[in-house]
Amino acid sequence: MGSLQLQSIRKAFGTHEVLKGIDLEVADGEFVIFVGPSGCGKSTLLRVIAGLEDATSGSVRIDGAEVVNTPPAKRGIAMVFQSYALYPHLTVKDNMGLGLKQAGTDKAEIETRVAKASAMLSLDPYLARRPAELSGGQRQRVAIGRAIVREPKLFLFDEPLSNLDAALRVQTRLEIAGLHRRLKATMIYVTHDQVEAMTLADKIVVLNAGAVEQVGSPMELYNRPANIFVAGFIGSPQ
Ligand code: ADP
Ligand code: MG
Repeated sequence: MGSLQLQSIRKAFGTHEVLKGIDLEVADGEFVIFVGPSGCGKSTLLRVIAGLEDATSGSVRIDGAEVVNTPPAKRGIAMVFQSYALYPHLTVKDNMGLGLKQAGTDKAEIETRVAKASAMLSLDPYLARRPAELSGGQRQRVAIGRAIVREPKLFLFDEPLSNLDAALRVQTRLEIAGLHRRLKATMIYVTHDQVEAMTLADKIVVLNAGAVEQVGSPMELYNRPANIFVAGFIGSPQ
């Protein structure tokens, strides 16, 4: 389970209104892509969903339950950032298990889950290394592994591939698509890369200046853009 419902989400920083009333339905197991120009509020929206930022008003429901007052750790959500945010002094294995350890999960269960995620991401040879001894692509896989071990209902990815070179971006994108199929989890994924959006998404949400311009499948947006903004964003290379 991992459906999400946003109703009238508003968020202001001081007098600057960054999210201007966002409504969105995400079905369980869906792969949803957020696209939109830099500064339009994509990261802020993910942070509101994750509970890392409080909305000024509006409702966030996960599997039908209001979570606006639920702390991030209790929402069943895991977030993967562009910067991997790994602990430099911990091994890959301990980086992946740390969240579970902090949540009080027992040691044997942590071992099992880390081993499973590590196998899924081909990280077995690197478990004893520290982040400085890994490539960028490997670090991002560790960050994804750290999300997987928590067995979240909902994964949030904030431009996870933008620090990787072109070849690694393709490879990691295919891995993420594979994970989506295997885990059957709901995934929300921010990107400014059109190829990522068109190939990964069940549904694309086009954001502009804190509001939703259009929601639809890649083909719907491509063939029937609601307006010139969407047409420009989906139809032409950026
Ligand atoms: P995007 O991810 O689409 O590039 P963001 O959600 O990061 O956009 O930012 C949207 C707007 O909100 C930007 O104008 C940004 O400067 C502003 N903003 C984001 N976080 C904060 C913050 N903590 N305090 C003040 N303004 C912020
Ligand atoms: Mg952002």
